[in-house]
Amino acid sequence: MLTTNNLGYPRVGPFRELKKANEAYWAKKISQEELLHTAKSIREANWKLQQDNGFTLIPSNDFSFYDQVLDLSLTIGAIPARYQSLLNKIDGDYSLDLYFALARGFQAEGVDVTAMEMTKWFDTNYHYMVPEFTKNQEFKLTSEKFLKEYNEAKSLGIETKPVLIGPITYLLLGKEKEEGFDRIDLIERLLPVYEEIVSKLAAAGAQYIQIDEPYLALDIDEKVKGLYKTVFEKLNAAAGNTKLIATTYFEALKDNEDLALNLPVHALHIDLVRGEDQLDTILAKVPASLTLSLGVVEGRNIWKNDYEKSLSKIQQAVDALGKDRVWVAPASSLLHVPFDLDNETNEESLPAEVKNWLAFAKQKLAEVKDLATLADGDVDAETQKRFESNKAAAESRRTSPLIHKPEVKTRTSNITDDDAKRTSVFADRKAAQQEKFNLPAFATTTIGSFPQTKDVRKWRADLKKGAISQEEYDKAIAEETENTIRLQEQLDIDVLVHGEFERNDMVEYFGEQLAGYAFTQYGWVQSYGSRCVKPPVIYGDVYRPADMTVRWSAYAQSLTNRPVKGMLTGPVTILQWSFVRNDQPRSTTTYQIALAILDEVQALEKAGIKIIQIDEPAIREGLPLRKADQKDYLNWAVRAFRVSSSNVDDDTQIHTHMCYSEFNNVIEDIAAMDADVITIETSRSQMKLLNAFAGDFKYPNDIGPGVYDIHSPRVPSTDEMVELLRKAKAVVPAEQLWVNPDCGLKTRAWPETKAALESMVEAAKILRAE
Ligand code: GLN
Ligand code: ZN
Repeated sequence: MLTTNNLGYPRVGPFRELKKANEAYWAKKISQEELLHTAKSIREANWKLQQDNGFTLIPSNDFSFYDQVLDLSLTIGAIPARYQSLLNKIDGDYSLDLYFALARGFQAEGVDVTAMEMTKWFDTNYHYMVPEFTKNQEFKLTSEKFLKEYNEAKSLGIETKPVLIGPITYLLLGKEKEEGFDRIDLIERLLPVYEEIVSKLAAAGAQYIQIDEPYLALDIDEKVKGLYKTVFEKLNAAAGNTKLIATTYFEALKDNEDLALNLPVHALHIDLVRGEDQLDTILAKVPASLTLSLGVVEGRNIWKNDYEKSLSKIQQAVDALGKDRVWVAPASSLLHVPFDLDNETNEESLPAEVKNWLAFAKQKLAEVKDLATLADGDVDAETQKRFESNKAAAESRRTSPLIHKPEVKTRTSNITDDDAKRTSVFADRKAAQQEKFNLPAFATTTIGSFPQTKDVRKWRADLKKGAISQEEYDKAIAEETENTIRLQEQLDIDVLVHGEFERNDMVEYFGEQLAGYAFTQYGWVQSYGSRCVKPPVIYGDVYRPADMTVRWSAYAQSLTNRPVKGMLTGPVTILQWSFVRNDQPRSTTTYQIALAILDEVQALEKAGIKIIQIDEPAIREGLPLRKADQKDYLNWAVRAFRVSSSNVDDDTQIHTHMCYSEFNNVIEDIAAMDADVITIETSRSQMKLLNAFAGDFKYPNDIGPGVYDIHSPRVPSTDEMVELLRKAKAVVPAEQLWVNPDCGLKTRAWPETKAALESMVEAAKILRAE
């Protein structure tokens, strides 16, 4: 067997044990001891599992109570000044409580500090806590978590490979909290702490240390490139006989190939899933002293590996370097996939045939082991059998009628430019829509959802359990919808919504009704802290067998003379928040979803719903990591949205909604979506975000900048919103402006929702009068 190298393992536990323990600890329902015990047993189970799979290099320090970047900030003493007062407030073994305070904020005993900011980890749905740096930032070793976990495994008889986020990547992941310096210049102060960490691990007996430097596979400037070699020279010197593994993932090395291949390390890990084509050029350049770790098993998605394909790559590397210098590995940490496919037993939501195409973290370990065995040549009967069934699974995926629907493929490949274009230009549409709806200036609306109260969630749970009948459920939803329509009329909102009470999650709701989708019971993936998501699985050609939203939208419209806005999730967001097929380009899958959404748009139109919102909050986050790939993505993402929204009457008004988006570099693409109205989040930035819409490039269609933050229960005053709207009016012509909250209201309670909307409508009226 070749050497096997695992980069990291999911840590919430197969049934989210860590999530539950964390939350119980925060609620003071369990002691710190109990929490520590749960954490310890998860680590132990993970290590044992990898040991049972015969893994050579098993990671440690990949466990985290909340986030691995936060762990590192605490390890090197990068604790923002505002937490200093907490250092003496939290007694006992304060480190865990301080850690959670950094992660979640702290309000008690007269102290009120906000949590550290969080943002997405590269292009995953995992969020990390952003390190904060000041000009005079100091670093010092303040935690020995890395060492404790290494020794903990050792005491269980398991030799591990500690994992550290590399110093350059760590600094790049952070943010300057003051003007006048570049955080990368802090490397000189940070490096001594890293040297201390590395030498402590070496002294403890670690044979390998994994240093994650994913930025080596991204666009970095000359200054950063210039740092890598010296940084690794220093780390290498501190490591003594301990071997360093420079680890890259999520992209190909590309222009950084020479740099990465010539670092003074024992081994370099490369991602051969995302960087499928990089092996040829890399093999031609590998120095004689370097070992290559081949990331062939995808760490970001849930498909079975294609053994034949992986083996040909491994073989190619073995031919060039010899068996000793080739390791087999997952492409990235397995943190981003669910735990164990064996726990999935519901054939209704995950048919056996589909299940046979999947592999979760535990199954991926076995795949790496199989590949390492097969590549070595000395193959036992069991492994050979698994190779045969792997081939059979790949073959059935290529041909299964469950996946392949010729009508869907034909329809998708026949999409024309006309299908991606509204018949008339915006000005003409706007005139037709104005004639139809006769809306006032500063028209008011909301983003879609209204409070999902305990009752609403209980009805859904009861229906699922069979505790109430479908009729009882429908009746409850109908009443809630009617009340919401009446409330919006009373509030004098101009464009109403039905409230989305029938929906659990904006992607799952559509996934459940689209063909080509499967669902898991325990397919949880950490999103941030104790929050996990369970993305649905797109396994086949997607189409819409029947109406999805018409019933509730039409019902809501039947209750009122004001226009009710239909509410759909857009193709790119549905794609982004699902596990996606890897047997066809993402763009093809997105176009299929776009056609399904178009069918729903047209069905809504027919049912008399003439204002339709297609939410695309995830369009910005789908942006590829490398700049050179971004234009292509934006082209098809925008085109897919247009396919879903173009084949409609001029007087059908298409809205879209986006939140959490940095629009600056993509504003022209957003304009190219050509939605008649876009509602965006701007309230937290005091309308600064609007500058993107009114800079050199003037956004041509209508805009509803969010006038209040729905993420907080705070009720904003009318004056505040009037102020914000005046700011908006100063940069965007008044005739283009709508008035709305900055996102859906599902997480809010009714009292604050009513009060805030009342003030919002009042603010719109004041602006109309001006
Ligand atoms: N229509 C959705 C809602 O109001 C939009 C949610 C979102 O932007 N994430 O809940
Ligand atoms: Zn939103």
